Amino acid sequence: MIGAYLPGNSTVELKEVAVPEPGHGEVLLRMKASTICGSDIRCIYHEHLGKGPEGYQGVVAGHEPCGQIVRTGSGCRRFGAGDRVIVYHISGCGVCNDCRRGYVISCTSERYRRAYGWQRDGGMAGYLLAEEKDLIHLPGELSYADGAQVACGFGTVYEGLQKIGISGNDAVLITGLGPVGLAAGALCRKLGASLIIGIDVVEDRMKLARDLGLCDEVLRSGPDNVAEVRKLTGGNGVERAVDCSANEGARATAIRATRKWGRIVFLGEGGRVEFNPSPDIIHDQKTIYGSWVTSTWLMEELVERLVRWNLHPAGLVTHRFALEKVADAYSLMASGKCGKVAVCFDEELTLA
Ligand SMILES: [Zn+2]
Ligand SMILES: [Zn+2]
Repeated sequence: MIGAYLPGNSTVELKEVAVPEPGHGEVLLRMKASTICGSDIRCIYHEHLGKGPEGYQGVVAGHEPCGQIVRTGSGCRRFGAGDRVIVYHISGCGVCNDCRRGYVISCTSERYRRAYGWQRDGGMAGYLLAEEKDLIHLPGELSYADGAQVACGFGTVYEGLQKIGISGNDAVLITGLGPVGLAAGALCRKLGASLIIGIDVVEDRMKLARDLGLCDEVLRSGPDNVAEVRKLTGGNGVERAVDCSANEGARATAIRATRKWGRIVFLGEGGRVEFNPSPDIIHDQKTIYGSWVTSTWLMEELVERLVRWNLHPAGLVTHRFALEKVADAYSLMASGKCGKVAVCFDEELTLA
């Protein structure tokens, strides 16, 4: 099979590799959809930035895989050949406190914690070897591209929104309208948010947020954003804010445009922010949350909700590429002039 590797100089290397054989507790997936994440671009594609959990070990790229089981190794207890599955993108030790909570992302075992596409082979290949314990059932109502989006982006957003709580009481500000910000808009909508305001600088993304009906108001990022958000919310600011930008100014806007007693969650990774604790959070009784990926059980809950809501995350996929064209897929994602970018296989390639 062909596998895609990221040497760290904004190129993609395709190599011929052997199809792996599943061992005990493992399954072999035929890949169907594998989406590209902002973190792939930030930490691997341009240069190998990450350390520890974000350290890329020269494996097949792609940590948002979704596919169909073609073979199981011995000892599998739940899944079998033919099952459609999403891969929770970190394989943990399974026995540390974080793994037992389902927050495998935070697994503390240096020896056993390995993320797909970072420290073990990921989804940018014809087949993927996965551990059965990392799999989430993909219901028939959802496509593989829907599932790939759950694997990282939608799961991460759903977790963050659970932390701050979203309901029909809330006006929500989303800073950064890349795939994660757009997912936040889609989920806030289904959770009942009455007013959704988005902020970005990239024209294509602002247009996408409007065209897909994911934001009621879209503002161009700038120094007047706090005043603009207050104006749209009766002078008070929003009840909830979600930062998906990792941008210093946008993070400060998210904090300052949130009203008294409001809650803010930071999802965007890297960078910094400066704010003044007393006027910006303490005196206004605000809470800032950090949120990293999600748990296996909350990912299962999200999949169930997506079916109930008839919400299809693949609606944010603007471009599909065959594996042979994976280099074009990464360079498009790096340009930011797109929604979500997916590498697809078989029947999933021709779906729109
Ligand atoms: Zn991701
Ligand atoms: Zn663990």
